[in-house]
Amino acid sequence: MQINVSQQLKASIGSRRSYEVSETINIAGGSSMVQGKVGLMRTDRGILVKGTLRTEVEVTCSRCLSLFSRPLTLNIEEEYFPIIDVVSGAPLPLPEEPVCFTIDEHHILDLTEAIRQYMLMAVPMKPLCREDCAGLCPSCGHNLNEGPCNCPPQKTESHSSELTKLTLANNVSVSEWKGTK
Ligand SMILES: [Zn+2]
Ligand SMILES: [Zn+2]
Repeated sequence: MQINVSQQLKASIGSRRSYEVSETINIAGGSSMVQGKVGLMRTDRGILVKGTLRTEVEVTCSRCLSLFSRPLTLNIEEEYFPIIDVVSGAPLPLPEEPVCFTIDEHHILDLTEAIRQYMLMAVPMKPLCREDCAGLCPSCGHNLNEGPCNCPPQKTESHSSELTKLTLANNVSVSEWKGTK
C-alpha cells in the first residue's frame, strides 16, 4: 500500500490523517488480505504510522501438521523518514538506526514491507490448530483429532520402520508418501 505524503510533509508537526488499509500481502508462499485503519502523524523527522490491522494467515499445526487459518492482529507503529526534503528536494540524512523505513524521492510512503514484517513477527513459532490438539500417532501417523487409531498401546519397533511397513501395506511407496507432503 502506497500513500503519497507530500502534502502532509509540508504540514505542521502533529498534523494527522487517516487511511483505510485493504491490501493483499504475499507472505511465506501464500497471500493474505490485510484490513484496518492507520493514522499518519507528521513528526519533526518524518511521519509516524500507527494503526491496528487484521489479517489471517494459513499455517501448519506443529502437532498434527494440518493446515489451518489463524487470525492475526497487527499493532503497527513505525516512523518513516523522508530521504529528500519535500520543499527544497535536497537529500536528508537518515537516522542512525539499523532498520528504518523511508519515504522515497516521490514522497511515497510504502506500508507493504512494514506490514509484512509485522505479520512475520505475529505468526507463532509453533502454531496449534487448537489448544488441545491431539497430534499424530507416533507409530502410524494417524491424525488423532479424527479419533483413535488401531495401533497397540505397546510397540516394539522404531517409529520409522513401523511407518514404512504401514505405508507399504497401504500400497503407497515411501517416496510417493513424502511427495504428498
Ligand atoms: Zn493440530
Ligand atoms: Zn497409530
